[in-house]
Amino acid sequence: MTELSGGPSLPQERRIVTAIPGPKSQELLARKTAAVAAGVGTVMPVFAARAGGGVIEDVDGNSLIDFGSGIAVTSVGASAEAVVRRATAQLADFTHTCFMVTPYEGYVAVCEELAALTPGDHPKKSALFNSGAEAVENAVKIARAYTKRQAVVVFDHGYHGRTNLTMALTAKNMPYKHGFGPFAPEVYRVPVAYAYRWPTGPDHCAEEAAAQAIDMITKQVGPDNVAAIIIEPVLGEGGFIEPAPGFLPRIAAFAKDNGIVFVADEIQSGFCRTGQWFASEHENLVPDLITTAKGIAGGLPLAAVTGRAEIMDAAHAGGLGGTYGGNPVACAAALGAIQTMRDLDLNAKAQRIEQIMKTRLTALQDKYDIIGDLRGRGAMIAIELVKSGTKNPNPEATAAVAKACHAAGLLVLTCGTYGNVLRFLPPLVIGEELLNEGLDVLEEAFGQL
Ligand SMILES: *Cc1c(COP(=O)(O)O)cnc(C)c1O
Repeated sequence: MTELSGGPSLPQERRIVTAIPGPKSQELLARKTAAVAAGVGTVMPVFAARAGGGVIEDVDGNSLIDFGSGIAVTSVGASAEAVVRRATAQLADFTHTCFMVTPYEGYVAVCEELAALTPGDHPKKSALFNSGAEAVENAVKIARAYTKRQAVVVFDHGYHGRTNLTMALTAKNMPYKHGFGPFAPEVYRVPVAYAYRWPTGPDHCAEEAAAQAIDMITKQVGPDNVAAIIIEPVLGEGGFIEPAPGFLPRIAAFAKDNGIVFVADEIQSGFCRTGQWFASEHENLVPDLITTAKGIAGGLPLAAVTGRAEIMDAAHAGGLGGTYGGNPVACAAALGAIQTMRDLDLNAKAQRIEQIMKTRLTALQDKYDIIGDLRGRGAMIAIELVKSGTKNPNPEATAAVAKACHAAGLLVLTCGTYGNVLRFLPPLVIGEELLNEGLDVLEEAFGQL
């Protein structure tokens, strides 16, 4: 495992040799503060020197256990052998021609992989871009061109990016939208089946939420005006919310009955993260379009829209693209990452991570009543923290636990509409010992509260 995950030279261990952040990181932080715009924040101000497998080594020689994967990106590790080898070879051959000027094989090969791996046996096509937000924007363009309609329906707690259109699609004001309006028109937000916080409890959450969402679309927008319904099969930034089972199929069926393009935003949940190639598979969903990015290319910037050929072909020639979209180095990296996912059976790895994490976190939840909910699939697991004896969000405890973890050498991320969710996104190639050690650190952090 070590040779395949992060290179043999990077020890897979937690090692703290200075304060966090150490002196070299502090020096760099001062330079960052002076030179980098304040709006670009950092979760943990340690500067990376090397990373791979389940660790990030900083410039002071500390080695952190990575439960973040650069926000669900480095599922194959941050220096996976096949990614490095194929990207390096491509770099030596050529860095760029622009696929719209003179095409190259890697782009086509990535689109062939996407057609084979995404749900459904229908003819599929893809277009490649640089970032998740760009993929979501293009999914909207394609759905509008196909349906000749304008409205887009999104959900409470949804996250789709930071560009103007995707800010409009994103639910949470702070920090994503605050002060950045006006936002794009023809975007409508409806309820999602968030079982833990559903007013009548979890039992009828799926039917009730779907009925409310469909009623709102019908009454307030008119199904004939809707080009696309866009949803994350597991809502990421919104708090790792798995819509209650039955919700997604109801929404997908409504879209189908009304000629609406159903778009699964799998930018965070895709590529083995939830123990399947795509989270849509857990409920046998076959989305019309699927957006991917993050885990697709082992850390190089690449994103895609993949879907039914007749929908993908609706946009006129020249209507889709971009200077860098499907850059050859990023495509080579994606082919290396996908090969790694197959070779190491990372779906099985993600399922094993879920088993280990859920067992340990269930025990933790029994001990600490501020852990209101434990949820997620595969290596996309979260706990939602509340005030003792209530369901009131507890962002203070969430921040305190994250801070204690960081000080002890475990990188964890927070998320959630109320900032009260600790999310765990380890690289899928993390060793089990390291995974358990990370969970030990988390347990100690709760002990310190
Ligand atoms: C991260 C994310 C995006 C945006 O991707 P970027 O590459 O940051 O633009 C969109 N949708 C989901 C579900 C995401 O997690």
